Amino acid sequence: MNAHHHTHPELSVIVPVFNEGENIEALIARLVPVLEETVASFEIIFIDDGSRDDTFERIRRAAAQDTRIRACAFSRNFGKEIALAAGLDHAHGKAVVMIDADLQHPPETIRTFVEKWREGYEMVYGQRVDRSTDGPIRRWFTMKFYALFARFGETPLPPGAGDYRLMDRKVVDAMRRLGERARFSKGLYAWVGFRSIGVPFEVQERLHGTSKWGYRQLTRFAFDGLSSFSTLPLKLATYIGLLISALAFTYAIVMAVRTLLFGADVPGFPSLIVSVMFFSGIQLVFLGVIGEYIGRIFAEVKRRPLYIVAEEVNGRHGPEARRMPAPGDLHEQPPA
Ligand code: UDP
Ligand code: MG
Repeated sequence: MNAHHHTHPELSVIVPVFNEGENIEALIARLVPVLEETVASFEIIFIDDGSRDDTFERIRRAAAQDTRIRACAFSRNFGKEIALAAGLDHAHGKAVVMIDADLQHPPETIRTFVEKWREGYEMVYGQRVDRSTDGPIRRWFTMKFYALFARFGETPLPPGAGDYRLMDRKVVDAMRRLGERARFSKGLYAWVGFRSIGVPFEVQERLHGTSKWGYRQLTRFAFDGLSSFSTLPLKLATYIGLLISALAFTYAIVMAVRTLLFGADVPGFPSLIVSVMFFSGIQLVFLGVIGEYIGRIFAEVKRRPLYIVAEEVNGRHGPEARRMPAPGDLHEQPPA
């Protein structure tokens, strides 16, 4: 990689953006002073996730004035999780911070992130102290989802932790080795481990625009999360199947005894229909669940690149698809 011709900044800040035109200048204006006083050198990397507004134009203008600002634009919208993965691929810093573009994550918290990192923590995650900026229904679903995940997921998630966080180079390299398509980052962060600590922060109101996550995306995201970190939905089929078989067996014995004692009676057509419909319903539901897993396996097996870069600004190397780091890469020293 020709990246070695450049000096590597102390900190890379990754900002995924999707139609955030109105927020770009305000974010840079808040971010740059914090970074200048906190670290020796930095780069801000915008990942434009297929914006259809003037987001990239504004980034380009800012980058023309400040070469510490770099950007990479996807060929279409791939989703925030993928944009973050691309950010990790493009970052050269000794540590990386990921932050939302809408100023919901106060940039000033980065000071504390860096402080903790210098104390030796490899992963410093922001912890939202309250979720009052989300609506009550979304909050309820969020709560239920995390309760479910805590019970049945393979990896416990720290409460309130999101994508706003700092990761040491070691963590970044470990994250880059996870080539999953259905990226449930919150689970992946917890899965890679490392010395971690939470830093509380208050989520702010979005500066301009509205949240890009509808309930459809959130539901999909929730199932992605559960299915990549738990096989519980599949096991449920086994458990319910076993339970129903046990019931059927008991019922068979009861019927046999009753027939012996009182003789056969013919009626029972309605209950027959009800049970046939009930059991075919259950079977279809679990076929659907299995289908969801197979669909995800299919997506993984195709091994398509995670994203396609259409354009770069102040890039250090040409557009490239996601490169899977070789296992040896992990032991590379962080670039000086
Ligand atoms: N985002 C993105 N791609 C998407 C959706 C969102 O890169 O498909 C970015 C968005 O521009 C913002 C961040 O991800 O910087 C968080 O998105 P948003 O504010 O819509 O989510 P919320 O804060 O409601 O969770
Ligand atoms: Mg937001």
